[in-house]
Amino acid sequence: MAGRKPSGRKRCSFCGSFEDEAGGVLLSGPAGGEICSECAHIIYSIFKDAGAYAGAGEAPAPAKAGKTRPAPLPAGKTPSPAKIKEFLDQYVIGQERVKRSLATAVHNHYRRLEQEASGAGGEFPDVEIEKSNILLIGPTGCGKTLLAKSLAKFLDVPFAIGDATTLTEAGYVGEDVENLVRYLLQNADMDPAKAAHGIIYVDEIDKIAGRTQNVSITRDVSGEGVQQALLKILEGTIARIPPKGGRKHPDQEYIEVDTSNILFICGGAFVGLDKIIERRRNSHAIGFDTAKHADAAGGKAGKAPDDVRPEDLIEFGLIPEFTGRLPIVAAMDELEVDDLVRILVEPKNALVRQYRKLLAMEGVDLSFEPDALRALAETAKKRKTGARGLRAAIERVMQDIMFDAPSGKLGPKIAITAEMVREKIS
Ligand code: ADP
Repeated sequence: MAGRKPSGRKRCSFCGSFEDEAGGVLLSGPAGGEICSECAHIIYSIFKDAGAYAGAGEAPAPAKAGKTRPAPLPAGKTPSPAKIKEFLDQYVIGQERVKRSLATAVHNHYRRLEQEASGAGGEFPDVEIEKSNILLIGPTGCGKTLLAKSLAKFLDVPFAIGDATTLTEAGYVGEDVENLVRYLLQNADMDPAKAAHGIIYVDEIDKIAGRTQNVSITRDVSGEGVQQALLKILEGTIARIPPKGGRKHPDQEYIEVDTSNILFICGGAFVGLDKIIERRRNSHAIGFDTAKHADAAGGKAGKAPDDVRPEDLIEFGLIPEFTGRLPIVAAMDELEVDDLVRILVEPKNALVRQYRKLLAMEGVDLSFEPDALRALAETAKKRKTGARGLRAAIERVMQDIMFDAPSGKLGPKIAITAEMVREKIS
C-alpha cells in the first residue's frame, strides 16, 4: 500500500483520490497507507452488512438509535382501525373492504412502532411484530394514491409518491430506487428520524413484473433487478441520501435514513391477474361448480378478486421475495356510475363543492341537477379512467360558465342540467 505519490501528495490507498479531492482529510494508518472518509464509510457498510462490525452500538446510524427512539405518533395515541376508516370515508368513496384492511394494517404498523419505541415487550416479550407493507391492486383512477395520501394526512407523517416505471437499479441510467427515500426525506424537512416513520407510495408496481408466464418468453431482467433493489429498501436498509440530490460522489456527505420502519404501499392495475386467479381456481375446482367459482374470483366485470394469493402474484411476474414483503394485499373495485356520482359531491374536496365555492365567491349560486351528475359520471365511466375522467368532464361543462359568470352575465343562479352536460360533451 503506497499512500503517497512520488510528488509527496498524499492519496487514498483504496480509491486513489488525492487529499484535496477527498475533502482535505485522509487518515493515515500506523503501518502506512491512507484512507479517505468515503472509503472508510464503504468499508464500514461492508463489515456491517456482513455482520462483522464490532462497534455496531456506536454506528453512525441515527435512526437505528435503539430503544430511546421516539414514537412516530404521541405515546398511546395510535388511532383505532375504526377511527382511521372514519377519516378515510371522508375522502375515499366505496372500497369498503380495502379501507377496513388498510386501516387495520396501518393501526398495527404504528402499534408496532409504539412498542418498539417504548422498548417494552408487552405481554409477549418474545414475539416480534413484523412490518406489514401493503399492495393495492386496482384499475387506474379507483383511488389507490388517494388512499395512501389520505392515510398520511390523517397520521401526520411524511409521505412520498414514486413511480416504479422510472426506477432502475443503482448505477443504471434513470432514477435510483433510493430516490424514493430522498423524496420522503425532503417532505420530512430533511429530518431522517421523521422520514423513518413515513409512508411511501410506489405506483405502477405491476410494470416491473418480469413477465415470465403469460406475455413474453424472454424474462424481463431489468424489471427483476428493480424488484431486487426495491426489496432491499422494503426490507429495511440504511439509505444514504445526498442532501442536495444529484449523483453520489466520493467526497459527499450523506444523510442516512433507516427504511425498516417506513410503511410502503405499492399499487398497480395488474391487468390479467384476474385470469390467473380464475385459472388457479378452476384447476382446483374439478368436480365443483366452476361457474360459481369464476364468479367468486371476480369474474363479474369491475368486481375485485377477493382472494389474491402470493402464487398468483408470482405467476404474474413478481419475485417471491418481493411478494413476501407485501403481506397485505387488497384488491380494489372498479368504480361504478353510482360511485362516480358520489365522488362528484360527497368527499370534502369534491369537484362539485369546489365549483360551488368558486362561484359563491362571485355571488353566484351553482347547483347540479341529479341527472346532470349522472350524465357526468356516465361520461367518465366510458373513458375507463376511473374517477380521473370526472375532472375532464366537469371542466368541459363549466369552461364557458366560469368565464361568463363573474361578469354577472348568467345571473345569480345557475343550474346545470343533463342536457347541458350532453351538449358540451358531445
Ligand atoms: P389511482 O388508483 O390510479 O392511484 P387516484 O387515487 O390517483 O387513482 O385517483 C385519481 C383521482 O380520482 C383522485 O385524485 C380522486 O380525486 C379521485 N378518486 C379516485 N378514486 C376515488 C374514490 N374511491 N373516492 C373519491 N375520489 C376518488
